[in-house]
Amino acid sequence: SEPDSRLAVFLKSGTYRLDEASAFFIDPVRVLNRSYTRFRVSPSAYYSRFFPYSNPSICNPHVSPKNPKKRKFRGQDKKISQALNSREQLADRRHQEARMGLLKAHEALLGDSDLLGVLRNLRGDGDENHGEMTSDLDFVKLGSVWQAPFYEIVLKVGDDGSAAENAGIGSSYQREVPVFDNFIAIESSHDIEAELLDHKYILPKKSCVYMSDLRQIHKLIPAESDCGFNLIVIDPPWENSSAHQKQKYQTLPNKYFLSLPVKQLTHSSGALVALWVTNREKLRTFVENELFPKWGVKSAATFYWLKVKADGSLIGELDLFHHRPYECLLLGLVDGKSMQGMDFEELQKPIGIPDNQVFISVPGDHSRKPPIGELLLDYIPGPKPARCIELFAREMTEGWTSWGNDPLHFQDSRYFIPS
Ligand code: SAM
Repeated sequence: SEPDSRLAVFLKSGTYRLDEASAFFIDPVRVLNRSYTRFRVSPSAYYSRFFPYSNPSICNPHVSPKNPKKRKFRGQDKKISQALNSREQLADRRHQEARMGLLKAHEALLGDSDLLGVLRNLRGDGDENHGEMTSDLDFVKLGSVWQAPFYEIVLKVGDDGSAAENAGIGSSYQREVPVFDNFIAIESSHDIEAELLDHKYILPKKSCVYMSDLRQIHKLIPAESDCGFNLIVIDPPWENSSAHQKQKYQTLPNKYFLSLPVKQLTHSSGALVALWVTNREKLRTFVENELFPKWGVKSAATFYWLKVKADGSLIGELDLFHHRPYECLLLGLVDGKSMQGMDFEELQKPIGIPDNQVFISVPGDHSRKPPIGELLLDYIPGPKPARCIELFAREMTEGWTSWGNDPLHFQDSRYFIPS
């Protein structure tokens, strides 16, 4: 496609196709904005990590650009000169498989001066939202006290009339509903404001949220399997030393994920499962040998998220063993009730998911993933529009159900600016 039209599509949609490398560049802010009409996601709040400082070692202590080889890892000093053990060899083999595609995608990005121009200005200007840094509500803590069932969120349906009409009352009204353990559906065709304990939230149009602990997840299982989901995105709180050190969120041992009711959440016409994993080889082996088989998921492809800074450079060295500048999204298919007996080939063939696709973006907050739903649309089995759910979500999206113990996290009004 023509560069000009690609850029025009990007400015609207937030995704830019790097044709020559079967890769995409994503601006999460533009993608997320499609769920909002009255508010916009604040670029400076989203990109607070990689835009405010000119010295990369300040915003990312993991990267020491001057002399990366000097960096020491726990117990790794000696290993560097020794042969890799068998697990490290496997990890290295996976990395080598990904490497060419990642380099090609990165080269395509660096060779596209139009895109680089846009990239440098992603944070934009005239958005000074970052000044007011109120502290976020701690939903995990609030949800675990005895009063939790009594906390109510006030949903303020605006004066556009859309949802108020349905309720048969004036031009604007508000509704109070329990915030924990309660399925909340926003039916309005505009985003709405909500309030809880003096905190303001912006909730996207036509979205659903269910905030609970893992113990309540079975309440999401639909009574009829044709009300199940066709796209299931999962970003589990995997245990890893860095999440522990920073205490950003609770993590869970792997065995808890074995009991996620993926099969029961699946639509009768099947589902595409997209699972975020870290680069630890032990985890990859667990997913392949235990988790996917237990869920009934058959591996179909691996996508890679390559992380860059505002100048287009990688956030860290590609070959640094323990801090790769990319993460993996494992894609697999689950068959639904109406397709039992079909073999995997039959299920897979019409969908034809390409392997090793790369998507590039500038990361937001720690462990915040870019919105990838759009990139997966072509590979989702079943009727359209697909029914989509995100497990362990920290934000809401139009057309999606978000579940987790902190799904309103990035809905705090401090991440938004009025449109
Ligand atoms: N995908 C998210 C994003 O892009 O921002 C990040 C998800 S983060 C890796 C994992 C989430 O799981 C955190 O929000 C954490 O609070 C949540 N979590 C941890 N333990 C949980 C539990 N027992 N029940 C429900 N959610 C839990």
